[in-house]
Amino acid sequence: MTNKTLIIGAGGVGRVVAHKCAMNKDVFGRITLASRTKAKCDKIAAEIAKKLGIQINTAEVNADSKSEVVSLIKKTGARIVLNIALPYQDLTIMDACAEAKADYLDTANYEHPATAKFEYRLQWGRDANFKAAHLTALLGSGFDPGVTNVFCAYAQKHLFDEIHYIDILDCNAGDHGYAFATNFNPEINLREVSAKGRYWEEGKWIETDPLAIKMIWNYPKIGARDSYLLYHEELESLVKHIKGLKRARFFMTFGESYLTHMKCLQNVGMLGIKEVDYNGVQIVPIQFLKTLLPDPATLGERTKGKTNIGCVFEGIKNGAKRKIYIYNVCDHEAAYKETLSQAVSYTTGVPAMIGAKLIVEGKWQNYGVHNMEEFDPDPFMDELNKQGLPWQIVEMDINETYEVKR
Ligand code: NDP
Repeated sequence: MTNKTLIIGAGGVGRVVAHKCAMNKDVFGRITLASRTKAKCDKIAAEIAKKLGIQINTAEVNADSKSEVVSLIKKTGARIVLNIALPYQDLTIMDACAEAKADYLDTANYEHPATAKFEYRLQWGRDANFKAAHLTALLGSGFDPGVTNVFCAYAQKHLFDEIHYIDILDCNAGDHGYAFATNFNPEINLREVSAKGRYWEEGKWIETDPLAIKMIWNYPKIGARDSYLLYHEELESLVKHIKGLKRARFFMTFGESYLTHMKCLQNVGMLGIKEVDYNGVQIVPIQFLKTLLPDPATLGERTKGKTNIGCVFEGIKNGAKRKIYIYNVCDHEAAYKETLSQAVSYTTGVPAMIGAKLIVEGKWQNYGVHNMEEFDPDPFMDELNKQGLPWQIVEMDINETYEVKR
């Protein structure tokens, strides 16, 4: 029987997912790309038809409505739904999948639009529903979260007896030529970066002011870049699943221009998430700002440079200390050539397709709601090498560091 696959969300990441699923059509079968604005789905479908000679279907859906998603799953006969819309839609799409009997996958942790806080509690709370329905829900199958969790699972399975320290290092050295633009949905991106920092040490969460901790990391194939400690969602599940952990942190690079613009916008209230009255119309400042900023889905053709995302691990193997760096380098122009999207969308969309592929093939079937590191990392690591995101493992001297001290 032909498989049927439903992708919801037609932004920068949705475009990559649709391309990569079409390139793996033998697994995904009949593909439907649906979103709030059907015209965006039609444009992507036309690109895929022209580039790959493959037809995919399109549909309009408001994924804030569970009943609309249930109807669409039933109409398309989808056995898996890839949620590539926004984190605000996670719960409605999960509930629709449990009701209409489809496996579920997303790339970002649920957030309520009116509260800039993300946590897994409400998604993990759906575990019993998915178990009862004999369905798998895979959370956070992008790059970070996603591949970074898989790197951790791989390190735990093959490279360490105990992992003590994890630093997740995310560098985007791409240049799109704009003074200020975000590489994925501006609202989600700016909420994340302007939030308080947080890391985990000796069993406790330690909170910092936003962007208060800065380090300079020397990223292979890129060079030294200012990197700031952020709270990032994979930390919440990794501290539950990685054995012997003493500390886990997440760093992301930002250029001076990005930070100056962001601080200025924050200071004048443009990152606000509560409604304000403007001439009798209620508007949310950050949503208004989004309408002014370049659409991340249009950055592909102008972005040059590379991303490097990976994890540095320190721990014990056979009684000796060990330090290992696992990372992927992705080139913006190569990503555009293949999928008409820049590397931030590419590094998110390829792992989303791989996670779904492993579920459909039965290699990552486990009823209930799960994070990436709970599955066998080996088939995922193999697919990364085959599907465009090859990884490197560097055995480091225990005293060696990629941190640049100035
Ligand atoms: P975009 O804003 O470019 O695209 C989002 C898409 O979702 C748009 O097509 C939008 O439709 C659609 N959408 C929004 N609301 C609804 C709704 N209610 N019903 C149906 N469709 C809706 O975002 P990106 O493509 O940049 O990002 C997609 C996701 O990927 C986000 O959740 C983001 O957080 C996540 N991400 C994850 C990363 C990772 O490594 N794990 C990294 C980067 C991003 P419309 O066009 O009408 O607005």
